[in-house]
Amino acid sequence: MNLKVKPPLLLNWYDTNAREMPWRISPSDRIAGVTPNPYHVWLSEIMLQQTTVATVKSYFIKFISKWPTLEKLAQADEGEVTGAWAGLGYYARARNLLKCAKIISSDYGGKFPSDYKTLLKLPGIGPYTAGAIASIAFDKKEVVVDGNVERVISRLFDIKIPLPESKKEITKIAKNLTPSVRPGDYAQAVMDLGATVCTPIAPKCLVCPLQQHCLSYKNGSQNLVPFKRKKEKKPTRYGYMYIVKRTDDAYLLERRPDKGLLAGMLGWPTSEWSQNPEESPPIVSEWKTHKTKIRHTFTHFHLEITLKTAFVNLNCKPKRGFFALVGEFNSNELPTVFKKAFDVHQEA
Ligand code: SF4
Repeated sequence: MNLKVKPPLLLNWYDTNAREMPWRISPSDRIAGVTPNPYHVWLSEIMLQQTTVATVKSYFIKFISKWPTLEKLAQADEGEVTGAWAGLGYYARARNLLKCAKIISSDYGGKFPSDYKTLLKLPGIGPYTAGAIASIAFDKKEVVVDGNVERVISRLFDIKIPLPESKKEITKIAKNLTPSVRPGDYAQAVMDLGATVCTPIAPKCLVCPLQQHCLSYKNGSQNLVPFKRKKEKKPTRYGYMYIVKRTDDAYLLERRPDKGLLAGMLGWPTSEWSQNPEESPPIVSEWKTHKTKIRHTFTHFHLEITLKTAFVNLNCKPKRGFFALVGEFNSNELPTVFKKAFDVHQEA
C-alpha cells in the first residue's frame, strides 16, 4: 500500500475537520497565504510535550497575553516564567523556554530558525519538537511522530510489534508518507485524525477517511493495535513537608537545589523523598502532623507526603529557608505538590 499515490484523502478531510487551537492557522487561512507564528508554534509544542491539549490552551493564552512576543519573553525573569508555568509540571521545560528565548533573541536576531538541525541545538528542543516546529511553523517536509501518529500508522499498517519497539518502523513509514505539498497541514491532519477519529478506544472507523486503506480495519484488529509493552509499576517514595507560619502571617519557603527534581523551584522545606526518609524539620518547634497525606505522581514514582505544620513567633531563626509574606509569593505559582500541601494546611 502506498498512500502517497492515493488522492490527498487526509488533507481533504483536514480542510473541513481541523481542530481549532489558539496557536494554529486554519487550513483555509494557510491556503490563503497566512503563515503561523513560529513563537506560538514553539510555545505550544513545548507545553504539549507532557501535557494535554485541553490543559495547554489556557496556559498558552496566559503566556501570550503576558509575553506577546518572543522578545518580551526573553526579557522575563526566571521566577516569573516558572510561576506562570506552575501546574504544568516538568519545570525544566519552563527554564529551557526562557533560555531558548534568550538565545533566539541574542543569536538569531529574534527570528526563529526554520531548519531542523539548527532547532535541535536549542535548549528544550528534541527531535520531535524540532520536527514539529519545522513542519508546522515553516511547512518543511519533516517527520512528526507523536502518540496520535504512532496509533494511526500502527493501525494503518496493522503493526503487531509492541511500542516502543515499533517506533523505528513507524518513523520510517511516517517519513515515507509525508507529502511535499502542505507537509505542515499533513502533520497536523494525522494528529487530528488520531485525536478525534482513530482514538485509543473505540476508533470511529466508519467515518474515517483512510478506512479503505487501513489494514487493522480490514483485519478487525483496530481495538488491539497498537500493542504496548507492559509498563513497570511505579515505586512509591515517602517524605515530610513542613509548612511554618509566623505570627505576622509570613511563611517559611525554601528554594530547591539547582539539580534534581523541581530544580530551582520555590516550595516548602521538605525531607528527602525516599523509601525510608528521615525527618528534617527546618526549625525547632512543636509540630502538628496532618492526618491527610499529600499524594502526587511524578514521571518515575508516586510520592506520599506527611505534612507537618508549626506556628512560630517573630524571633524564630530557621535552620534553612527564608520567610515571605503572602503578598511576596503566590501560592498558586508553587509547583503542584506544594500547592496541594498548602490547600490541606488551609483546610485544616
Ligand atoms: Fe483508525 Fe479505523 Fe481509520 Fe483504521 S479505519 S485508521 S483503525 S479510524
